[in-house]
Parts: sequence; C-alpha cells; structure tokens
Amino acid sequence: MEISFDKEIQQLRLGTGDVFHGEGILAVTKALLQSGVAYIGGYQGAPVSHLLDVMVQAKDLVAELGVHVEACSNEASAAAMLGASIHYPLRGAVTWKSIVGTNVAADALANLASPGVTGGVLMIIGEDYGEGASVVQERTHAFAMKSGLALFDPRPDLQLMTDLVEHAFALSEASNMPAMMELRIRACHVRGSFACKDNRRPAVSALAPMDAPAAFDYGRLAHPPSTFRHEKLKLEQRLPAARRYIVEHGLNELRPGRHDDVGVVVQGGIAHALLRALQALGLADALGNSELPLLVLNVTYPLAPEQIAGFAAGKRALLVVEEGSPEYIEQEIAAILRRHGLSTALHGKDWLPGAGELNPEALVQGLLPFTSAYLPQVDTGAAQAQLDAAASRRRELAALLDAPLPARPPGFCIGCPERPVFSALKLAQQDVGPVHVAADIGCHSFATFEPFSIGHSILGYGMSLASRAGVSPMMKRRVVSIMGDGGFWHNGLLTGVQSALFNGDDAVLLIFKNGYTSATGTQDILSTPGRAAKSGATDPAASLTSTDRRIEDTLAAIGVQWLRTVSSYRVSEMRKALREALTTEFGGLKVIVADGECQLERQRRLRGWIAGLLARGERVVRVKYGVDEDVCNGDHACIRLSGCPTLTLKDNPDPLKADPVATVIDGCVGCGLCGENAHAATLCPSFYRAELVRNPRWHERAFEALRRIARRALQPA
Ligand code: SF4
Ligand code: SF4
Repeated sequence: MEISFDKEIQQLRLGTGDVFHGEGILAVTKALLQSGVAYIGGYQGAPVSHLLDVMVQAKDLVAELGVHVEACSNEASAAAMLGASIHYPLRGAVTWKSIVGTNVAADALANLASPGVTGGVLMIIGEDYGEGASVVQERTHAFAMKSGLALFDPRPDLQLMTDLVEHAFALSEASNMPAMMELRIRACHVRGSFACKDNRRPAVSALAPMDAPAAFDYGRLAHPPSTFRHEKLKLEQRLPAARRYIVEHGLNELRPGRHDDVGVVVQGGIAHALLRALQALGLADALGNSELPLLVLNVTYPLAPEQIAGFAAGKRALLVVEEGSPEYIEQEIAAILRRHGLSTALHGKDWLPGAGELNPEALVQGLLPFTSAYLPQVDTGAAQAQLDAAASRRRELAALLDAPLPARPPGFCIGCPERPVFSALKLAQQDVGPVHVAADIGCHSFATFEPFSIGHSILGYGMSLASRAGVSPMMKRRVVSIMGDGGFWHNGLLTGVQSALFNGDDAVLLIFKNGYTSATGTQDILSTPGRAAKSGATDPAASLTSTDRRIEDTLAAIGVQWLRTVSSYRVSEMRKALREALTTEFGGLKVIVADGECQLERQRRLRGWIAGLLARGERVVRVKYGVDEDVCNGDHACIRLSGCPTLTLKDNPDPLKADPVATVIDGCVGCGLCGENAHAATLCPSFYRAELVRNPRWHERAFEALRRIARRALQPA
C-alpha cells in the first residue's frame, strides 16, 4: 500500500485538551485508542477501510501503546480474533464492510455471542446501504437480533460517535454482549470535531502480557450443553443488562418538541436527514431543533421497552423512521405498545419507502401524510411545492433529452492489467463460441460493463469457482470462473479450488495476479511483491507481480496439474491459453494466472521515481500510443475491444467522411494494449507507438534536428 497516512496518524496522537478535526471514521479510530483497546483487526472494505489502513501504518504508535493490530485474511478471521475477549479482560475491536463481511463472519459471530464476552468487544461495521453502496442491499440489524449483539447506530456527530465508542465497550462488559457500531457512508465521511482524551494503554497487552491462561471452563465453550445455558443467559441476563445500561447512560436521545401529542422514533444514523426533512416542513430549524418530539435511537438493538413505552405514553401517534426492510424496529415497537396496553397509533412503512436510502426528499414524502393526519394546522404547502418542483425539474430534463442519459458506470483504470485479459476472453470466444462466465467481486467485475459485458453471476467474494459447480456439468462448453488474487486468498482457495480438486471437476479458473486487493484500496495481501522486491527491482518500470509465485506454488502444492502464468498484457498469448484451457482434453481443474501489477499502484511508484530522474536531469522515456487519423477507418472495433478511457473518438478531420475517428487523448500510460489488440484481432493498422523523451542526450537532439530539416525539405512549399 503506497498511500501515506502520516497526517492521520498524527491526529491519533492528540490528547486531553486537544481538539480533533477530521472525518468520522478517523474519529472512531481515535476513540478506540482512547478506550484502552488491546487488539484491533479487520478486513478492509468501503466505507470503513480507512480504519485498518491507518492502524496498519501506525506501527510506532500502536507499539508504544502495546496494541496488537492484525490485517486479517477475511472477515471470518477478524471475527474469530474477538474470541480473545471471551475469557480475558481484553477490549478488542474489528472492522469490515457489511452486509457482505458480516455474512462471512457469521459463523464466528454466533460462536462468540453464545458464550458472551468478558472484555468489551466492538465491531465497527461499514453499513454499505443506500445511494453510493456497492453491495447487496440488506441490513446488519438481522444479525444483531439473531445472535444477540448490541447494535449502535450513532447520529453522525463526531463528539457523540466517539463517546459512544467508549460506551459500547462499557455496555459490552456490563452485559457480556459483543457490540456492533454501524456507520453508514455519510457517517464515515462526515467532517467535524471533538474534544480528545489521552490514548489509554490497555492493562493487559503485548507490553504487559498475562502470566497464565484462564482456567479451563467448559461453560465458556460454544458447545452443548453449555449452549443451552447461553441461550437462557442471553434472554434473562444479557439483554436486560444491556437495556439497563442504555437507559441509565442516556445513550438514546430524547428531544422534546412543542407538538408533544405526537412523536418520531428515528435511527441515529439518519436523524440528521430527518431534521432536514422536518425543516422543509417548517417543523425544525437549521440548528436541528425540532417541533416534534424525537427519540433518537443511537442503539437500535436492543430496544429498551420501558423507554419506548414512556415516549409513546400520552401521544396520539408515533412515526418510526427506519431505513430498509424488514421494519424490525417498527415491528418491535408495535409489540411494545401492545404489551403496555398503549393505543398510540403507529406509522412507518405505511408511508415511508421500504427500500432505498431515506434521504430528505424521501422523508418529506413520508412526513407529509403523517403531518396531514395528525397536525392539520401545519402548513405543508412549501414542502409540497418543493417536491413538486423537483418532480417537474426531472420531467423537464427528461423531455429535453431524446433518450435517457447513458449510464456512466465505473470502469478499469487507464492501463489496468485486467482490461487486456477481457479483450483476450472476447477474442477466445470468437474461436470456441460463447461461454458461461462466473464473475466475482473485485476490479475485474468492471468487465460486466460495456464494452465487455462479461459475467453471468456474482455470488460473493472469492466464490466464482464454487458458483460454477452447479452450472458447468450442464454446459456443452466449459465455464470460465474469474477471481482476483484478493478473492483467492480471502475465500477462493478454500471454497473453490479445494472443492474443484476434491471432486475432480472439469473447470477453468482465471486468476488476476495484480498484487493487491485493489478494489478496496490496494491493500497488501500475502502475494504482494515485498518492499525488498520494489526497492531492489533493476527496472522500476517493470510489473513486480512476477517476482512472487506464491499463488502458483500454492496451487501446485495442493495438486493443480494444469497451470499457466501468462502476462496480462500479451493478448495473443492469453487468447491462446484461454482457447487451450477451454478445449484441452485434460479433464481436471485448469488455472490461468494473469500476471500484471495493478496499474494504479505501479503509477504511484513510477511517479516518484520519474520525478527523481527529472530532478536530477536524467533522461526519461514515456511510451504513448496514438491513432493515425488518416488511416483510421472509423469502425471503432478497437474501442469495442478495449474500453480504455483514453482511447476515444473525435470528429473526422476529413470533410468527406462523416464517421468520427478514434483518438488517444492525454493520459495514455503506454500499457501497450492498443498495439496488442490491433495485432491479436488484426485491426486496421492505424495505431502507432511513440516515445516521448525528456532530457534527451546530445545525439538525440542532433538527430531530431536533422529529421526536422529533412521533413521540411520533403514537404511541398
Ligand atoms: S485499481 Fe488496479 S486492478 Fe483495479 S482497475 Fe485500477 S489498475 Fe485495475
Ligand atoms: S496503450 Fe491504449 S489501452 Fe493502454 S493506456 Fe494507452 S490508450 Fe489505453
């Protein structure tokens, strides 16, 4: 990982009397250190990647505090780490992206929650839900309910969020329940400030290790018959203890309002969006003071029934503002009202959308019928006019366009090593016919967009090979499974490769060895070229992934017999390897390792190196590709095979031709794909390769001067 987090690490060193200014996720990271955490682990993923990225680089700081930091191989290994707190008074924190990461961690979580914890446990969960999300849209809430985990959902205010981190550890210890804190995308990136405290050295840590292990206690094992007792403990002791803590420490916020015969119960994470919607209705001011009484649930599981009933008592109606479905909170509140004999009318999903993010516009739409029904004296005309204006703007825009705006999906970086492999896969299918492609999570999933549109399914991170098992026996042609090296180490080696080998499956696996988990922020993995390889490389411009053969060695060691490593940028060779894998008589698992370092990481490395060369006045050569506009025949086959953003179109300079010509704009990193594609697919010969020389030698200058003279002489006057 080449990004430096030096500034962030300095922020983590702040102490009592200092004020932190910055992003929510870094504030939470700081709060972990203030809470005396003894160990931190996790698996990176938006929107919480920053937490682990910063901690991994903060080696000196964590060593001073005695905090152990572990970049785990997946979320299951992160959750399993928390087992340290079952017996020992160690506070532990882990982080990952939810819901997908929580799914992976589910086995360990259930086995952690059953015996319960002694030291406080906190999972910082990136709730990747709503606008901008990148995973399936489900809620972590279900996991909290089923396993008995406290679920914090703080209002996105840095002081509150950091205070709640400390409370989460304390609640976990008071109730023996592991705790989760879900942070939505906006909560992670909200900027603000909070008053810092000194970082706390844990009493037991790597600096002050324990003399002896805990005494053997069968009752702490998630094994029957202990599990029968655990189930009762959850209900009879842990949940009541957590509820007591929530109420006694005021973790949920009760905000009075002048219309006190109605009220709104809202998840903390979307409380600010609600206030913005209330403001549009004239029911709140810009400072967040609401005219409706609010119960802001900074802890959404467990609910404290007495607190809910107390809030509802004497009110004609409650509105529950809860994002997504099912409406777990609303259903529980309905049961609480019934059990307490309260006749307060309950609304929520009858007026609010059941799917998608509750942004202020969606909330205004839900609040309008509530206001009309219970506060008819409130003039909602302005809010309705705002909604109408937004709808009419959308209609006008649609009318101005002949067709809907084209989608602008994300795509591979310029020069990405994965793009040429999909060009080769397209060409290989011209040879053998169309094949079913089991795609996976990672940068390579960009190939599901134009111009490739490759991939029939995505079943989870590292799951492509396993997901093919039910399809390939029913197919005339072999299925291609695609996996990144991140997915391979995360899950694919066990769930896919092992299973295919064990069953003797006739399968084809294409692994992208780009050296990092690029899609989550280019974090290092087991097969990342080491620092020694980077600094010792004779040619810093070379791709470094070929210096590490751990993936190939692992595959060979567990019995893969058909294994090829092919440079990602060699389109013809890759096409040939794919064709062979799809047609060979060998009936077992065939693996092609596409070897090419992530271009994003490579360019980061090159930028510093080139800047150094230029500063020293040394010669620097940059390769660029271009299109000869006089030769381009305008069929754009090159673009359909590549999709590189720097290979685009421009008006045809020939006034007699109407079709635009291809052109390479500035930004080309000279990956060579344009030339490779032109050759492999026998395209028109319009591509040229140029070398841009900076600080040229004297003989290069002299030669160029001669060339210029010759060109002038040959040109007509
Ligand atoms: S981050 Fe790396 S692997 Fe991902 S698209 Fe960019 S260059 Fe390709
Ligand atoms: S050579 Fe072609 S594919 Fe590679 S970066 Fe340049 S324009 Fe893009």
